[in-house]
Amino acid sequence: MNYDFIIVGAGVIGCSTAYHLKKLNPKLKILIIEKNHRAGLGNTAKSAALFRNLFSSDTSRKLASSSIDFYYTISEKIKLKKSGYIWLFSGEQWKKNKNIIDKIDKYKLEINLFNEENITKYININLFSDKELPNVSNGIFCKKCGSLSAISLAEYYLNSFIENGGKIIFKKEIKSIKLSGEKEQYAPWKNIKIKHLIDDNGDKYYSNKYLFATGAWTQNILSPIGIASNVYPKKRQLFGIKIKHISNIFNKKLEQYPAIILPAGGVYLKPILEDNTIIVGSADDLGQPYNLTDFHANQKYFDKAIKPVLKHYFPYLKEYSLYLKWAGYYAYHWPDKNPVIENVSNITWVSGTSGSGIMKADAIGRITASKLLEDKYATLADESKFRVSNLSLYNRNVDLEKLII
Ligand SMILES: Cc1cc2nc3c(=O)[nH]c(=O)nc-3n(C[C@H](O)[C@H](O)[C@H](O)COP(=O)(O)OP(=O)(O)OC[C@H]3O[C@@H](n4cnc5c(N)ncnc54)[C@H](O)[C@@H]3O)c2cc1C
Repeated sequence: MNYDFIIVGAGVIGCSTAYHLKKLNPKLKILIIEKNHRAGLGNTAKSAALFRNLFSSDTSRKLASSSIDFYYTISEKIKLKKSGYIWLFSGEQWKKNKNIIDKIDKYKLEINLFNEENITKYININLFSDKELPNVSNGIFCKKCGSLSAISLAEYYLNSFIENGGKIIFKKEIKSIKLSGEKEQYAPWKNIKIKHLIDDNGDKYYSNKYLFATGAWTQNILSPIGIASNVYPKKRQLFGIKIKHISNIFNKKLEQYPAIILPAGGVYLKPILEDNTIIVGSADDLGQPYNLTDFHANQKYFDKAIKPVLKHYFPYLKEYSLYLKWAGYYAYHWPDKNPVIENVSNITWVSGTSGSGIMKADAIGRITASKLLEDKYATLADESKFRVSNLSLYNRNVDLEKLII
């Protein structure tokens, strides 16, 4: 069968793109190929699945905020919780980020600024510094933030895509890409393009255009055919700890407890009240490899890099048990930490979600679908127009994202 589009990868981005592509043109023949047995089992499932509209870059804010607007319309299906975020800063960090914070439209973004007094009204936290770890002096409370089920979101898009006639094949891994022009040694003046894809069984797949929505695997799959995706996989780890009384951390009785970002190492906490669990991660950078070789979380990392931070800011948290740990990979577009959607010949790739692909998936899917249809602008869920080429590599027009965790 010859398809109009083949999409490799059924993560949240591949599924969102397939859904929007089919919505824009229901007649298109589209196939998704996924190596796992279910959608979202790549890095989508590894995420903390938090969402926020608080970013330093205008591009990130547009992508996340419009996506969240759409998620609100399907909130039950994706188990969305509007639990908020409290982003805490040390005095020094607050000064350093003052320019960004002053520029943000607080009313539009629905955020409030906290001083020490407000912080302690909400959180039972040690505000003081020690030899190594900074104090807590200011914070941002962010209302249009919370969590959702990343797998449910990927499946929502996928199921709607299938209902509208789209096709998916699971448990097939694309092992190689066959280009035209091999006999002529890929003479550059010939129109070289993908002829077909070959899976782990030797089966071939033919299409007019191909999209690689392969997240952190993008560089691995595209480099053998001479494409530099500009996206690199960066390891990140998460840990689940059981705590008897999560409510002790909060000084206010709330239905849903907000995520907390601490001033040390971007350590963040996602409380899951019903499971007496807190998911903890950190924004580590130097030391963590840029390769896809190790999917294991390291207990020593928890002991050395996270535990001391918890002990410092929540000294009363003495009894908890680490019962869950996993690792995944950000697909990092390291220069500006915003997504990349680029195209060469009949090949397009979408990646570089840089740790915020769940919360931006709706907008990224819309923009990628528009790119595949060669439209100049995409319409986002809030009805705003987004210039598709802004996320390309050649005609890129985005500002650096500084609020990355
Ligand atoms: C620890 C961690 C925490 C995170 N926390 C958050 C968060 O709180 N909020 C947020 O918004 N984002 C978060 N992220 C980022 C988020 O997970 C990603 O941005 C998002 O999942 C990217 O989606 P994707 O579809 O591009 O990639 P993926 O979900 O990885 O999808 C790519 C798919 O391609 C498939 N694939 C790859 N190669 C092949 C092949 N050769 N053949 C067939 N199939 C193939 C894979 O199996 C996979 O299903 C986090 C990430 C990590 C690792």
